Amino acid sequence: MRYDDSPPPPESASSVSPDRPWFARRPALAVALASLAPTCLAVWVLTQVLAGPGSDAPRPAGARLAGASPGAAADAKPSASAGGPSAAPAAAPAKGPLTGRTVVIDPGHNTGNFKHGREIDRQVDIGTHRKECDTTGTTTNSGYMEAEFSLDVAHRARALLEAKGAKVVLTHDGERPWGPCIDERARIGNEAAADAVVSVHADGVSSGNRGFHVILPARVKGGAADTAKIVGPSRDLGERLASNFARTTGSSPANYLGSGTGLVVRDDLGGLNLSTRPKVFIECGNMRDDKDAAQLTSPEWRQKAAQGIADGITGFLGG
Ligand code: ZN
Repeated sequence: MRYDDSPPPPESASSVSPDRPWFARRPALAVALASLAPTCLAVWVLTQVLAGPGSDAPRPAGARLAGASPGAAADAKPSASAGGPSAAPAAAPAKGPLTGRTVVIDPGHNTGNFKHGREIDRQVDIGTHRKECDTTGTTTNSGYMEAEFSLDVAHRARALLEAKGAKVVLTHDGERPWGPCIDERARIGNEAAADAVVSVHADGVSSGNRGFHVILPARVKGGAADTAKIVGPSRDLGERLASNFARTTGSSPANYLGSGTGLVVRDDLGGLNLSTRPKVFIECGNMRDDKDAAQLTSPEWRQKAAQGIADGITGFLGG
């Protein structure tokens, strides 16, 4: 189901062209080569395909090969097929306790959102009500962006989970100019049939407010939103995330909400309301507090944060 009302996007370069392969459109050459040595033709064609966009080999205008144009996905309008979920690295997954399990990690915001106010301000349907497509996220006082932080932690958590055998999908990987919208972020987890989904954030409240908190979905029902089936498992996921995050980072639960539990329930987040899979958000600290910011800007601390997130997910999945 599409939640936006924009026209269908142009065909993406990431999709396979329905046209005949370009070499098949050159019958004279193909026949000549085929009549000489069919095996050589196959090798030659394979070479051309593998050579990719950096090759000097001629390619007729309009011919498309999957992934031939690295910039095209970012130029295309966002949709499920353009700028969609990022595939895990091509390397064969490790065998481990999470083999066969799928984890979706949602890096909050996008560094490009600041330049795309009109696009991210567009209202989307989150079932219970309508809300902005996405937000810019916050920054530290020195300008380190929440979107940079969340993507970095997502990469680190992905590596840890893949090492345990999980299939990991990111909702975006810096390949698109803005977004995804919150409804699409939820949809990516749903369509991946994720066993667990974690949206990574850092908060932006006044200095002196410190610590992390995990946001759990409230029980909501309205439109496409119905969280009845995920409230329980999401709480389990969230509690494991909070305890492991505290252990690996040494951080305390937030001192400004959640009554010291590090857990908060919300009914206004589209990414939770529209999820059909166990899902939580984690706010790893307060970017506007200098002591928290010193941690959030440290690669070593971010590795600990990712470890806590990965351990929490692993515990939830029984790995
Ligand atoms: Zn955020």
